Amino acid sequence: MKNNVLQTPIEYLKGVGPGRSALLRQELSIHTFQDLLHLFPNRYIDRTQYHKISDLVNTGAEVQIIGTITHVETVDQKRGKRLVAEFSDDTGLMELVWFRGHKWIKQSLKVGVPLVAFGRLTQFKGQFSMAHPELELLEEHQGQLRSALQPLYPSTEKLSKSGLSNRLMGQLTAQLIKDHLAQEIDPLPQSITERLKLLSQREALTQIHFPSDQNQLARAQFRLKFEELFFVQLQLLRKNLIHKRKIKGYKFSEVGTLFNDFFKQHLPFELTPAQKRVIKEIRSDLGSGAQMNRLLQGDVGSGKTIVAFMSVLLALDNGYQACILAPTEILSVQHYNGLLEYCNKLNISISLLTGSTKTSDRNELLESLSKGDLNILVGTHALLEDRVKFQNLGLAIIDEQHRFGVAQRSKLWHKNEYPPNVLVMTATPIPRTLAMSLYGDLDISVIDTLPPGRKPIKTVHRYDNNRLKVFGFIRQEIAKGRQIYIVYPLIQESQALDYKDLMDGYESIVREFPTPKYQVSIVHGQMKSSDKDFEMQRFASGQTQIMVATTVIEVGVNVPNASVMVIESAERFGLSQLHQLRGRVGRGADQSYCILMSGHKLSDDARQRLQTMVATNDGFEISEADLRLRGPGDLMGTQQSGVLQLKIADLVKDGETLKLARSYAKEVLRQDPELNHPDHKGVRLTLAAIFKFKNIWHHIS
Ligand code: ADP
Ligand code: MG
Repeated sequence: MKNNVLQTPIEYLKGVGPGRSALLRQELSIHTFQDLLHLFPNRYIDRTQYHKISDLVNTGAEVQIIGTITHVETVDQKRGKRLVAEFSDDTGLMELVWFRGHKWIKQSLKVGVPLVAFGRLTQFKGQFSMAHPELELLEEHQGQLRSALQPLYPSTEKLSKSGLSNRLMGQLTAQLIKDHLAQEIDPLPQSITERLKLLSQREALTQIHFPSDQNQLARAQFRLKFEELFFVQLQLLRKNLIHKRKIKGYKFSEVGTLFNDFFKQHLPFELTPAQKRVIKEIRSDLGSGAQMNRLLQGDVGSGKTIVAFMSVLLALDNGYQACILAPTEILSVQHYNGLLEYCNKLNISISLLTGSTKTSDRNELLESLSKGDLNILVGTHALLEDRVKFQNLGLAIIDEQHRFGVAQRSKLWHKNEYPPNVLVMTATPIPRTLAMSLYGDLDISVIDTLPPGRKPIKTVHRYDNNRLKVFGFIRQEIAKGRQIYIVYPLIQESQALDYKDLMDGYESIVREFPTPKYQVSIVHGQMKSSDKDFEMQRFASGQTQIMVATTVIEVGVNVPNASVMVIESAERFGLSQLHQLRGRVGRGADQSYCILMSGHKLSDDARQRLQTMVATNDGFEISEADLRLRGPGDLMGTQQSGVLQLKIADLVKDGETLKLARSYAKEVLRQDPELNHPDHKGVRLTLAAIFKFKNIWHHIS
C-alpha cells in the first residue's frame, strides 16, 4: 500500500541531506515529507514588481530592487560589528546591512554583478537600508518563475544563517510536490470532494505553496482547512463511537421510585424546557448500557444542580451509589447542604468528604461507603484519594470540570470494576467550536435558558473617581435590605500587593460603612478555612451586609439576597472570571447589579472585555468574545494545547468550516463505521498515519 511516501524522513528529499534535515527538525519540527508539505507560507509577496531606489517611500515595506553592490565594508560599532554594502541602481544609492554572519556573507557578496535584493526597508539618517536582505543573481532570478503570490515561509535566524533561505524552502517544496505527490491517494473521499467542489489534495497543496491567483489560493486554503478539521473531528467522533461500543457502563434500566417520587412530590419548581431536555438526554445515555460520558454546559444559575440530582436518583433507583465532585470546599459544602434537604425527604443517605473532614468522621464515612450503606458522597479532591472505596459507584458527577485535570477524572474511573457513568458540568460556557474540538468525543448537553422570573443583571462600568457615587448606591441597596459583594483581584505574581489593596479597600469600606449600622465581612485565601466559613456563614445568614473578598467567592457561593457585585480593578480580570463573579448575584427575585470599577487607563483588550460585560449577560456570547480576544490556546490552558495545534485552520475564524467538517465526518462514520468502503481508503490510511506518527490524542480523557 502506498501513501507512506509522505512519511519518508525529510533527509531523503533530494537537496536536504543530514545537515539540513537536522536543522529542519530542530527549527521547524519538520521530520517528514508530509511535515514540509504542511509548512504553509505565512503570507505571500508580490515578486513581479521591482522598485527604483529613488522612488522608495515607505519604511517597513518589503520591496525588491535590481542593482549592484559597489562597495563592502565592516563597520565597528559599540555592540559588535556590522557589515555594510553600498547598493545602487541607476536612480540612487542605499545600504544593505548585516549584523550577523559577516564573514560568511562577506565572502559570498559579489561586487559589480547585477543582483536582486529583497527585504524590508528601514531608514537610517535619511537613507534607506535593508537589513539581512535576500540576494539573488539577476541572471538566476530571471530564470525562475515570478509570481504575484510568492510564498513566504516561516523561518528562524538559524535557518536563514545556514542558507536554508525562503527560496530554498520553496524549491524543496516544489520538488516534493513534483516528484512525490502524484502517487498519493487523496485523504478525502471523492464523494466529499465532489459534493463540496474541493480541489484535490495535489491541487490544493500546489496552490497553497504556489498560487496562480487569489481565487485558487482561497480554494486551496478552504480545502486544506476542511481536511484538517475533518480529520480532527473524525478522530473524536470515532473515539466516541468505539468508546460506546467497547466500554460497558452500568446500565440504569429503571426509572424507579426515588426518581418518580421526587419528580411528583418534591420538585421545588417546575423544570425549564432546557432542564427537561437535558434530563431526557441523560436518561437515554444511562439506559443504553454504554458508559455515559457527557458534558453539561449551562450558565451560572441555569439550574444544573437539579439535573445532577435527578441523575443521581436514577443511579440510586438502580442500586448504585453516586458521587458529586466539586472543585472547592465551599462549593461542595453548598452542594451538600442543598441536596441534604432533598435527601432527607427521600430518606436516602448523603455525606460530605473534604480535606477538613475529621479523621473519626472520615473513617466512619469510608466504611459505610465501602459497605454500600452510603448512597451519595459529595466532596472535593479528597474523593480521589486511594482509600476512598465505593461499593458500587454507578455515577460520578463533576462540577466545574475544567478545574480538574483529565488525569484526575480517569482516576475516578479506576475505583470500580467498570467505569462509572460520568456527567461533567461546567458553568463556563465553552464556545461551540472549541467544545467540538476539545470535547468532541464527549456528548454535550446545553442548558441554554435561565429559570423563569430572573431579572437580567444590570452591568455598568465606572471609573475609580466615581467611587463616592458607587458607595451612595450601595447604601441605598443596603437600605432596601440587600447585600453587597466587593471583590478584589488576587493574582499569584502580585500577591503581596494585591493583599495590600484588599486590606486598604476593606479599611476604606469599614470607614464608609461604620458599625453598628453596617457590618462588613472579609474573606480571602490566607485565612484559615474555619474563619472563612465563619465569615461566609455570617454573610449568608444576613448578619453582615457587605462581603469584601478575593476571588475565593468566584465559584459557587449562593446568597440569593446579595444583589450588587462590585468588582474592583475589573480590568485585571479575564472575561470568564468576570462572568463567573457576576453570576454570584441575580440569584434572587430582586433586580441585581454588577459594577465594574477601573482606572482611566485601559488597554484595548481590557476595554473590550469591560464593554462585552456591559453589553451581554449571555455566557456563550461572552465565551465567544473571550475566544476572539485571547485565542484558543490561552483560553483553555496549556493542558489541551496539543489538540489545538492546527496547522492551517483557526478555531476562531473557521467555525463554519468546522461545523461542515464535523457533519461530513459524522456522515462518513454513519455510512461506514469501519471505513472499509473503497472511497474511504484515503481516510483510513490518513487516520492510520496520524495515529502512528502524531500520537497526540491519547490524552483526551
Ligand atoms: P447552576 O447551574 O449555577 O448550578 P443552580 O442549580 O445552583 O444553578 O440553580 C440556581 C438557582 O436556580 C437555584 O436557586 C435553583 O434552586 C434555582 N432553579 C433551578 N432550576 C429552576 C427552575 N426550573 N425554576 C426555578 N428555579 C430554579
Ligand atoms: Mg452549580
